[in-house]
Amino acid sequence: MISYKSQRLQPRVRFAPSPTGPLHVGGLRTALFNYLFAKKNGGDFILRIEDTDKKREVKGAEKYIIDSLNWCGISPDERPGDKTKYSPYKQSKRGDVYEAFISELLAGGKAYYAFDSEDELKALRGNHEKKGETFVYNWANRNSLKNSLSMSKKEVQKKIGNGDKYVVRFLSPEKGEVTTLDLIRGKSTIDSKILDDKVLLKADGTPTYHFANVVDDHAMGITHVIRGEEWLPSLALHCLLYDAFGWDLPVFAHLPLILNPNGKGKLSKRSGEKGGFPVFPINWNENESFDGFREAGILPKALVNYLATLGWSPKEGSEIICGLELIEMFQIEKVVKAPANFDFERLKWFNHKYLQQTDNAKLAKILIELKPDSSEMDEEKLIKAIGLVKDRADTINELWGLCKYLFFEPTNYNENNLKKVNKEGLNKIVAEVLEKSLSDDIQGGLVSHMKEWGGAKNIAAGQIMMTLRMILVGDLSGIGIQDIINFVGLKSVAERTKNFKDSVI
Ligand code: GLU
Repeated sequence: MISYKSQRLQPRVRFAPSPTGPLHVGGLRTALFNYLFAKKNGGDFILRIEDTDKKREVKGAEKYIIDSLNWCGISPDERPGDKTKYSPYKQSKRGDVYEAFISELLAGGKAYYAFDSEDELKALRGNHEKKGETFVYNWANRNSLKNSLSMSKKEVQKKIGNGDKYVVRFLSPEKGEVTTLDLIRGKSTIDSKILDDKVLLKADGTPTYHFANVVDDHAMGITHVIRGEEWLPSLALHCLLYDAFGWDLPVFAHLPLILNPNGKGKLSKRSGEKGGFPVFPINWNENESFDGFREAGILPKALVNYLATLGWSPKEGSEIICGLELIEMFQIEKVVKAPANFDFERLKWFNHKYLQQTDNAKLAKILIELKPDSSEMDEEKLIKAIGLVKDRADTINELWGLCKYLFFEPTNYNENNLKKVNKEGLNKIVAEVLEKSLSDDIQGGLVSHMKEWGGAKNIAAGQIMMTLRMILVGDLSGIGIQDIINFVGLKSVAERTKNFKDSVI
């Protein structure tokens, strides 16, 4: 009978990524939900690096995971490098733990040595395939294969003594049902007959994911396993392993998938490339290079807030929830089964809101890091410019595009819009703007002067405003015209007017 760990007041949860590449948005959401759950319940959030599969390990991936979590403010309470009663937190450093526990399973007859070579197994698979069947190493055939169940103790000792290669397999039960419980998906039952005898220890002496994962969750006192839906098929085996050791089960919660924006397939880097959006938190520059949300000008708080809504929704009416409020509101029981479609436009909507709340000096600092040419501007002026344009920006990168004309005089003019201002009277408007901007003496501002002047000359105000905009911005966009003039100063207005005159009239 499977028993569950009593729901302790202080949960211990873990994020257990394998360093096989940059951390994907799905992994980040898993880390976030673990973090929120732990903080909500006064518990601990642990980072464990599952690096037993050295063949799949990618250089730089572990650092990337840590940097990404730091950027998002998802800070582990225990992590690789810490010395606690549970350390080390990297599976490659926990060989002795696995050795002790594999011996326990072998001694208790819950696991067995298997000496079948790769070639022999390949041949068996091939033979089954020819008959349209699938080869499964389990109760149905294990007594006739090369293992410690079919051999005498002496034979087994001899083989091991000779240094023959072997793996250790789990003895999955021949009969009975395995009932698993998931906080999000409820109960499900499978016939143990269909399970295979999974390898727990590989021929090179390293543990497989299943074994190391279960052993470590137990050894590290993990109370709740919150992870992606892709691990659901492993749940029955994991429960059987707990049972084989006689350990209480943690509570399991498998989070729904994050799909591509069109709802087809798991969110992939390729669909991000096609749709022009990132799927990783920060830039990656190892075996290949790509930008992350940070480089796309997304604020970490906005990303965290958006990710929290993928699979879970806060109570109606509250969307912008950050920091402590998010922790306060989060309820793992309210996570849904249905997959969530990734929606970059919605993330940008969140980002827009967060941009408005963020201090302009802080935005300037982030902008300078992202767009080094903005660092050449006077910082005070940059901060002021950001304040003027930010209500139009969804991303930090857009901020720069939106305020560039406040620092640089336009060198070309939007041709289509130019046609709209290139009408009778243009010469006169430009001449008046030039004269006044050079005169340094316009009471009440250049814009109201020009409107008055236009009224007297019978030139439409619209025509004047459009011309001023073309002169100042090079296009019919931008913030209020008088705001632009105040920002750039009359000297620059005169300069811009001369440039306009030289290239347009
Ligand atoms: N190492 C696994 C991964 O990369 C961990 C899965 C789990 O959380 O159990 O996702």
